[in-house]
Amino acid sequence: MSPSDPYESLGVRRRINAAGALTRLGGAVMAPEVMAAMAAASRASVDIGELQDAASNRIAEATGAEAGLVTTGAAAALTLAAAASIARWDVAKMAALPHADAFPRDILIPRTHRTGYAHALAASGARLVDIGHNDRGTGAGVRGLEAWEIETALTPSVVAVTFSVNATSIVDLPTVIAVCRASGVPLIVDAAAQLPPKENLRRFIAMGADLVAFSGGKALGGPQASGILAGRRDLVASALLQQLDMDVAPETWTPPKLIDRTNLRGVPHHGIGRGFKAGKEEIVGLLTALDRFMKADDVADNAALETRLKAIAGTLAGIDVALIPAQRTGRVPVLEIAVPDALAMSARLQRNDPPVHLSERHAARGVLTLDPQVLLPEHDAPLAAAIRAALRGATVKP
Ligand SMILES: *Cc1c(COP(=O)(O)O)cnc(C)c1O
Repeated sequence: MSPSDPYESLGVRRRINAAGALTRLGGAVMAPEVMAAMAAASRASVDIGELQDAASNRIAEATGAEAGLVTTGAAAALTLAAAASIARWDVAKMAALPHADAFPRDILIPRTHRTGYAHALAASGARLVDIGHNDRGTGAGVRGLEAWEIETALTPSVVAVTFSVNATSIVDLPTVIAVCRASGVPLIVDAAAQLPPKENLRRFIAMGADLVAFSGGKALGGPQASGILAGRRDLVASALLQQLDMDVAPETWTPPKLIDRTNLRGVPHHGIGRGFKAGKEEIVGLLTALDRFMKADDVADNAALETRLKAIAGTLAGIDVALIPAQRTGRVPVLEIAVPDALAMSARLQRNDPPVHLSERHAARGVLTLDPQVLLPEHDAPLAAAIRAALRGATVKP
């Protein structure tokens, strides 16, 4: 295999990605600085618990949370958050998961928040209990989640409430936080793709969420298989304990500082998170990417993306395109391209050589979205050519 071009050696095609940092397309494109840090990290032995302690301090600074943990992605962070909410410091419960029917394990989930990622919460052994209505989602009505709907469902078997935050759902977040605070039930927020803006690193914690999950391999620009769980110290500690390699002798085990051993009646075995261990390379890569992300100039970066999008739009004469600025998307500027049959057009673009991907998020309303988040600048021109050709029903070879 050629180290300089592994994809070529494997016969795997490179793609033009204007669909965003999608996991199925490999997530973010990493900066050389992040790769260099990962390579340096790989050439040493370190105590992973000690490294996660250091990561916790960095994540705490970045998010304003008490503590943080590097995970193998936001989905893994959700499973660990659920496992922490169920088991807390109880080693017997840690040992039992995912079989949790003998103790409290319910997680309340608003019906408007039933995403495909709810499976990650349920994988811990939690039972998801649907609450509220989906009036806004279906267009049937105007009402969101109401406090009494959560309060009614808060039985003794409830260990957490979950919330999938985005620019639309956030209006309901203060209500949920108020109920969770009053009842002492932890709130797990899925904010996987809510970056940028970088203010969102702190926003949900500042509002009062107990645990927040972010993807490391999307906009953060970290290793694809990385993520963050930030939040309350005791819950993050339980999550870490259930992720660490626990093939340790109790007599010689030195737990990470995050874990207060006096809370434990024994030393747990490998937990539910052992299968999603974060390696030293991912931990260091994620922290390096987090550092870069926080130092980035969002305004200048978005202005540069807008300039590129305007140049692309300029070559799409006769096509119905609209530039949506970052202020309106809440993240990066995008180009919305109205086409007669969005999914057929998307399929044509994917048959292009090289394959081209636009976001199908708004295909149902006849729009393909050109999302430049991870689009390489050298792909701008071939992308525009492929769009023009696909609209003529043809495909082009470069
Ligand atoms: C991408 C995503 C996830 C999963 O994130 P990974 O880092 O890929 O595990 C979870 N929730 C939402 C809303 C997402 O967009």
